[in-house]
Amino acid sequence: MDINVSIVTQTLAVPIAIENKIQLDMLRLDTLHPHVSGNKWFKLKEQIKAFNKNDYKAILTFGGAYSNHLSAAAAACNYYNIPCLGIVRGAELSHNSNATLQFCIDQGMQLHFISREKYKEKDSASFHTDLKQKFGNVFIIPEGGNNILGRLGVASIYSYIQLNYDYIVLSVGSGTTLLGLSDSVDPTTKIVGYIPMKAGGNYANQYVTKNTNWQLIDAYHFGGFGKYNDTLVQFIKSFYQSYNIPLDIIYTGKMMYGLLNDIGLGKYPSNAKILCIHTGGLQGNASVSDKLGF
Ligand SMILES: *Cc1c(COP(=O)(O)O)cnc(C)c1O
Repeated sequence: MDINVSIVTQTLAVPIAIENKIQLDMLRLDTLHPHVSGNKWFKLKEQIKAFNKNDYKAILTFGGAYSNHLSAAAAACNYYNIPCLGIVRGAELSHNSNATLQFCIDQGMQLHFISREKYKEKDSASFHTDLKQKFGNVFIIPEGGNNILGRLGVASIYSYIQLNYDYIVLSVGSGTTLLGLSDSVDPTTKIVGYIPMKAGGNYANQYVTKNTNWQLIDAYHFGGFGKYNDTLVQFIKSFYQSYNIPLDIIYTGKMMYGLLNDIGLGKYPSNAKILCIHTGGLQGNASVSDKLGF
């Protein structure tokens, strides 16, 4: 995406890291756009190129009611003047159900709400044929932007990484961002993915990669995907007060909590250079902004 932004890396003076002689830097992909997850822009980059090369009339994609991907797709299509459609999970919803869906509409995305049952067919060829019959020759992007083009796009996050870090730490959903990075990093760098959902370790089996330079940690799910408790809320609040960096409640808050806890537990060797990636997701905080205070 050629939007004109600077992506910065900043060093975090976190006491627990300093005590353990660890250099802790953060790559701020969240600053790409106030409403759009940084990694989602990267996942869309190559899809938009593919759309432009062919004679499609619109982009069509899928997401849940609070989807970071849907809002990123809506903003990207608005930016590039591409007509877009969002197929949303939940027939009971409407455009004014929440701030995410309202944002999508405001960006010009046309929303269609389908039942949870029907939504399960989101990757099936016959459903795609039906969608094309209904909406014309649309370019279909899977939920989350998670396909080979998404993985290719996120690989270019690597070009913003300036040091040879021992560890790159990030939050993991589908694993597309982790795998894209694993395709491109120096083999001496270890990638650690913190999973924000229960039993996330099972996901590891689904990830196919030529590299084995990564590992997954699923100890910090706080009850499951989208779940949180007061400890997490307080952590995000105090992190914001200390470093002036907003974290999101779904992904990056859990990742940073887990990383700092693991540093405290001695799971990262002293003198290690760690880069954590702020993948954004701040639009998802709309429902908890009262609690977080930002
Ligand atoms: C989607 C998302 C992730 C997970 O990315 P995957 O490529 O699906 O693993 C992490 N952080 C944020 C903020 C996201 O929106």
